[in-house]
Amino acid sequence: MSDCIFCKIANGEVPTDFLFEDGNVVAFRDLNPQAPTHVLIVPKAHYANIADGVPAEVLKSMADAVEAVAEAEGVRDSGFRCIMNTGAAAGQTVMHLHMHVLGGAPLGEGLLPKEA
Ligand code: 5GP
Ligand code: ZN
Repeated sequence: MSDCIFCKIANGEVPTDFLFEDGNVVAFRDLNPQAPTHVLIVPKAHYANIADGVPAEVLKSMADAVEAVAEAEGVRDSGFRCIMNTGAAAGQTVMHLHMHVLGGAPLGEGLLPKEA
């Protein structure tokens, strides 16, 4: 999609340092990090979110990227959190599938709604 920032990053139109890249995905640091490690794993092809018919090989690449990023960032053993906000009610602001990988500090517990 021509006006999608993550398409532009993934296809090289917006120069970005990648922590991981394969044929299906890239990983790069979030612009506004919420933890010492805050990396986004983004498919090269445009899918709106995880419920948009994502092929198995893309999901496998995302899992490979999680493993590589966690290892490179030194959080593989200490623990980290993977988040995919899906749709407006979940706070998704960039409508191109991405997984947040957060770690490097205590992240708290639970996944309660804001107004539980
Ligand atoms: P969402 O709220 O959609 O789950 O997360 C979108 C994330 O993308 C946010 O954490 C935001 O900081 C990040 N982001 C938005 N635009 C850019 C950008 O141009 N570059 C990078 N590296 N991150 C971005
Ligand atoms: Zn896109």
